[in-house]
Amino acid sequence: MRVYISVDMEGCSGVVHREQTNPIGYDYESARTLMTAEANAAVRGAFEGGATEVVVSDSHGGNGMRNVLIDRLDPRAELILGSPRRLGQLEGLDDSYGALFLVGYHTRHGSTGVLSHTTNGQAVANVWIGDELVGEIGLNARLAESFGVPVALVTGDDRTVAEAKEQLPEVEGVVVKKALGRYTARCLHPERAQQLIEQGAVRAVKKADRLGTEPLGSPVSIRVQFKETGSAEAAAAVPGAVLVADDTVELSCDSVEQAYAGYSSMVALWEPAWGGWIRG
Ligand SMILES: [Zn+2]
Repeated sequence: MRVYISVDMEGCSGVVHREQTNPIGYDYESARTLMTAEANAAVRGAFEGGATEVVVSDSHGGNGMRNVLIDRLDPRAELILGSPRRLGQLEGLDDSYGALFLVGYHTRHGSTGVLSHTTNGQAVANVWIGDELVGEIGLNARLAESFGVPVALVTGDDRTVAEAKEQLPEVEGVVVKKALGRYTARCLHPERAQQLIEQGAVRAVKKADRLGTEPLGSPVSIRVQFKETGSAEAAAAVPGAVLVADDTVELSCDSVEQAYAGYSSMVALWEPAWGGWIRG
């Protein structure tokens, strides 16, 4: 089984502040080390559980999706690094994979949880696919399911795992820290967090075959509410996108993949004026 591991930074144990997730911030180098170590724990567990091939996707927007330290990555894994990406945190995912892991993830914009946001915390407020309000977990789950790939593992703080279980009741969840606020958490020691991730990854691979997917039917609409009207105006330049409120754009597509790519384009249009590194 091929396993795709999308690894973000905000949900890693020891990470609680934007300074850590921003490449020019204090402690960023330490945070990317923690991120790489949690990715490795998931890689080890995936192989232990029976994976035959593992691809890791650096899925933190800071530093242009170049955060994972490739020379410290488990040599059995390959790494998707850099941006821009049509399919964002899941670039390169297709129907050849048997399971998706979301490691180091966080809650959606407006929710309780450490460093909660949806994709681009500077530009984006809320995102809906159809009528479902989604964060990064929901957005990525919908795309993966459209390829027939189940989300088998989600790791992050306790609120993140709760958000994942709301949408994916059967998912394997690993809590590496307890959110005490948006910038405060009670964290497991990294070694303990990595041990739990490895064990969760083993269970996730073993049960991936039993996890069903329910791909959305066509057409698929994605609605994006931005934090300011100028961003919505820029996003409305994407072909097919329509302003449905001063700060909200809707795009209707034949597939989740097209909707996701359209969303990536909307957010990319926001970036040239504002700088693309404060996101993910
Ligand atoms: Zn991130």
